Amino acid sequence: MKLTIGHLYPDLLNLYGDRGNIQCLRKRLEWRGIEAEVIPFISGDTIDFSKLDVVLLGGGSDREQELVCSHLQKIREDFRTYVEEDGVVLAVCGGYQLLGHYYKTQTKTIEGLGILNIKTEWEPERLIRNIVLNSPLFDTPVVGFENHGGRTYIGDHTPFGKVVFGLGNTGKSGQEGVIYKNVIATYLHGPLLPKNPHVCDYLLEHALQRKYGTEIHLEPLPDELEHKANSYIADRYNDKKYVLKETIKRYT
Ligand code: GLN
Repeated sequence: MKLTIGHLYPDLLNLYGDRGNIQCLRKRLEWRGIEAEVIPFISGDTIDFSKLDVVLLGGGSDREQELVCSHLQKIREDFRTYVEEDGVVLAVCGGYQLLGHYYKTQTKTIEGLGILNIKTEWEPERLIRNIVLNSPLFDTPVVGFENHGGRTYIGDHTPFGKVVFGLGNTGKSGQEGVIYKNVIATYLHGPLLPKNPHVCDYLLEHALQRKYGTEIHLEPLPDELEHKANSYIADRYNDKKYVLKETIKRYT
């Protein structure tokens, strides 16, 4: 078996170690004897989505998002078809915002892909801190780091998680990210996947099932260290001095 991972625009969208998500996807396939090919597409490259099994769209500054916008418009329809045909996507922060209709910054409105029915608007106070979520997809917490000026309004979409500690989509809604088909769109950097191997395996399993059939299941890996790192953060905010919006899920 083999998965091909498309890393979109690492020349412009690669904040706070987003590239670590690629390394995590690759390593967790290789550790299970599954071949992994990573194709970086820099801005302007032609992208054949039919060859891709996982797509990563990382975060960027407002300026970089503005630069990448014209390239995104050229791949818009192919990207949409890929998503509608259950292609697996991880979109982080700036990439999450660009999956929506627009991101209105302090000075401009950057047109997004319009694949998700969401919109983002900048406000002067940046939302920066560690963040812990309970996601309906997992029995265990999702932890990360957020740093964004944009507030994302997700309408009727399903959020990726409920914010237990941190700020999330708008700092007020108590929601974080979006799940749509096989897309996970989120504000969580960190990078997200090494900190949350269960999220990595979710994406990989869905990509393998799309390609090879629903009976494919990934073997568990000895993730004691990863679980300890994840629990360390969850425990830090499970302290009485923090006001939590709900009880943090625990690794069992
Ligand atoms: N520039 C966007 C914002 O500030 C996205 C930032 C990011 O990708 N971390 O909201």
